[in-house]
This record gives sequence, structure tokens and C-alpha cells, in this order.
Amino acid sequence: MNTETRNVTAGGVAGGEAPTVVVVGAGPAGLMAADVLAGAGCRVRVFDRMPSPARKFLLAGRGGLNLTHSAPREPFLRRYGAAADWLAPMLDAFPPSRLRAFAAELGEPTFIGTSGRVFPQAFKASPLLRSWLRRLDTLGVELAGRRLWTGWDEAGRLTFAGEAAPVAADAVVLALGGASWPRLGSDGGWTGLLAGRGVALAPLTAANVGALATWSPLLRERFAGHPLKRIAVTFGDTTIRGEAVLTAHGLEGGPFYALAPKLREALAAGADSTVIIDLRPDLAIETLSDRLAEARKGESLSNRLRKAAGLEPAAIGLLREAGAPPTHAWDLAAAIKRLPVRVTGLAGLERAISTAGGVTRAAVDEGLMLRAVPGTFVAGEMLDWEAPTGGYLLQASFATGQRAAEGVLARLGRPLPPRWVGGW
Ligand SMILES: Cc1cc2nc3c(=O)[nH]c(=O)nc-3n(C[C@H](O)[C@H](O)[C@H](O)COP(=O)(O)OP(=O)(O)OC[C@H]3O[C@@H](n4cnc5c(N)ncnc54)[C@H](O)[C@@H]3O)c2cc1C
Repeated sequence: MNTETRNVTAGGVAGGEAPTVVVVGAGPAGLMAADVLAGAGCRVRVFDRMPSPARKFLLAGRGGLNLTHSAPREPFLRRYGAAADWLAPMLDAFPPSRLRAFAAELGEPTFIGTSGRVFPQAFKASPLLRSWLRRLDTLGVELAGRRLWTGWDEAGRLTFAGEAAPVAADAVVLALGGASWPRLGSDGGWTGLLAGRGVALAPLTAANVGALATWSPLLRERFAGHPLKRIAVTFGDTTIRGEAVLTAHGLEGGPFYALAPKLREALAAGADSTVIIDLRPDLAIETLSDRLAEARKGESLSNRLRKAAGLEPAAIGLLREAGAPPTHAWDLAAAIKRLPVRVTGLAGLERAISTAGGVTRAAVDEGLMLRAVPGTFVAGEMLDWEAPTGGYLLQASFATGQRAAEGVLARLGRPLPPRWVGGW
């Protein structure tokens, strides 16, 4: 591994007995914090409300586990929008190359897909997680499930439903995730606990969330779950290419996730929220029209759309949903390239890929310690940053997990782990 040794100059309880650090939340951020802390000689106890760790990470793995992205540093950082400058030092210390090396160390080498996204070779999360849990076990990390963190007692110890006595620690890392897919464990229940201690929070809202639309029973029954491959979706002056999935209640997928913030604004303002879908963005309207005009006489419209325009059944269904398609080749081509779909709302947090909002940057110091709760650090999606899908979410979760662990080590006066010198 490309690392170099670092020492820390901060004061604290150097030497002597190993300090105890409690990590609450066994997702990617919490487990990374635990890994770094245990590697640095701390006694680490991880608590999670779920019976087993990293449920969301495992679910993310079902879609291929997009661990990170191969984009160069600048465009990569831009994907974090307003939080880019805040996260930059953490991502520099734990860049995509570091995450890829970490996966390889755990026996899961990665590859770059055609879209630039990075995946483990197994294309899923479970082998990586299994191997990681084995390593944490070897490092002496104690993992306890079915422990719901409920706050602090009068002595400042952590209280858990499922744990008989309050738990004392020399430092605490909270890595409780956002509030999407609450049945996987992260439900944002921590907001009340932190707000009660004076921690500044931005409201939790759904990010990377699908668009809602009203479909006919026919479209819903026949095509829910079908992909719409290689489309372009335009809202206002923004066009996003990608793949989507027609769902029972609307449309999911990269283009819609990316357009969600603008759609949210329009919906809140009561403005027009119609998106325009180009079902064949790679074909100029002239070419498409010529192909449609060449179709054999007497051929059914569906066959014409399938053969001449190369549309898949779900795309044809969506086209028909807007009304009877025109028969004239040019008009038909125009309908294929400018299909309006009125978005009636955005899906809720329960189905969002991620959560915007959370603990604000003003509420933590540069080691991610809560200013209002000294000795307690925060990592992962519960911090107030957001990013599109593409591996940026996991990358920042891991990077902030490392940073919070380093913040703990600095506070406790322990040496920091070796610095990553493998570049971006
Ligand atoms: C369907 C889906 C697919 C995704 N795919 C990708 C992808 O391919 N690439 C990508 O980069 N990102 C993806 N993500 C996002 C990514 O999984 C998250 O950003 C990431 O898991 C956040 O990590 P975390 O450790 O901050 O939080 P989490 O993974 O949410 O972990 C937080 C943990 O805290 C526990 N917890 C919460 N509250 C309490 C409490 N009070 N007491 C005790 N424990 C508690 C939870 O049980 C949970 O285990 C996907 C998300 C979803 C939903």
C-alpha cells in the first residue's frame, strides 16, 4: 500500500491503556472509522440497531455496487456542489485510488466500467463486506447488533435500547446515515437527539430520488420495471443522458435523480414540471424521419417503431401513453424525440437513494468533532453534503469515516495512521 508514517502533535492521553472508542452505526462510514481506530490500537466497540451490519451497503451492492468513480480530481469534487471545498481535504486523504486499494486488499479488485464508474470484480457487496468484517474481527473490533442508540445519560454515557447499562467511551463516532430506505436501519431518528444538544442541522430531504407520474393501468401493468435505455431527459435548460426505469408510479434512474433538485424547486413553486424525453438521442430527427418513412407499406405502427426507430416495447408504451402517435414520418420522429411527461411529484425519502441535509459544516471542526458535544465525532451521510449517484456517495462516506477516526486519534493524542501517497 502507498503510505507514509505520520505523527500527531495534538495533546491528549498518549500511551498507557488503549482508549475505548464507541462507533454507533455499522455502515460504510462507521466501519471505516472502526477500521482506522482499531488499526491505531484503540479498543473499538461498534453498535448498530439492526441485527447485522451494513444493510444499505448490501442493498447498494445488488445494483452492482458502484464503489467510486474514475473521474479526475476536479470534476470528481464538483459533484459535491456546495460541499466540495469542505470535503476536498478528506477526499484528498482518502481518494478513489485509496478506496480501490482498500477493496483489493480485501480480495475484491475493482474495474472501471464504460461509464467511468468503478465496481468490485464480483459486482456485489457481500464478498467485500464479509472479508472486511473478518479483518475487523482480527483487529479486535466488537460488533453488537440490535442496539438502538437513544441518547445520553446524566453522566454523558451513551444509552441504547437493547443494552442494559449505559456505555462509557473516551470518544464516540456517530455514523448513523441519512433517512432514506429507513427499513435498512437509517431513519434519521438521531436528528432530535442532536438538535437537543444544540447541534445545527439542515433538514433531511430526499436526494437521488425518482420522479412521480400518473400512468394508465395498461402502462403500469405491462411495463413497470422495464428499462428505458439510452434516453435523454430535458428539464428547463438541463439535459441529462442515461438510463431510466419505468416504475408503477413514475420514472427512476440517473437522469431523474440528477434533475430532482430542479424539479423539486419547480414543484414547490407550482411551476410547469413537464420533462421532455428524447427516446433516440443518438439519432438526428432527419435520420429518424427518413428511417420511419422507409418502413414497408401496411406495417403496423409498433413494428415500424421497433424496426425503423429501434424502440423497445417500454419506450413504445410510453410514446403511446402521450396519445395516439402521429403517422407522418416527420411528426412521428418529432414525437419520439420530444415526448412530454408531466412530473407530479418526487418519490419520498423511503425510496430515495440518499439524503440531503444533516449535520452542518459549522457544527463540526475539521476533525468532524461536534462543537456542541466535545469528544463526539460524525461521519458519513448524516453530514450535510449530497452528491449524484456514480460512486460519489460511498466515496465520501468512507472518506469522512476515515477523517472522523483521525479526529478521534488527534484528540486522544494517538499517532495518526500512515498517510496515503498513492495520488488521486
Ligand atoms: C438502493 C440504494 C443503492 C445505492 N447504491 C449506491 C451505489 O451504487 N454507490 C454509492 O456510492 N452509493 C450508493 N448508495 C448510497 C450508499 O449506500 C450510502 O450513501 C451509504 O451507505 C451511506 O453510508 P453511512 O455509513 O453514512 O450510512 P448507512 O449505510 O446508512 O449506515 C448507517 C447505520 O447506522 C445505523 N443506525 C441508524 N440510526 C441508529 C441508531 N439510532 N442506533 C443504532 N444504529 C443506528 C443503521 O442501522 C445503519 O446500519 C445506495 C443507496 C441505496 C438506498
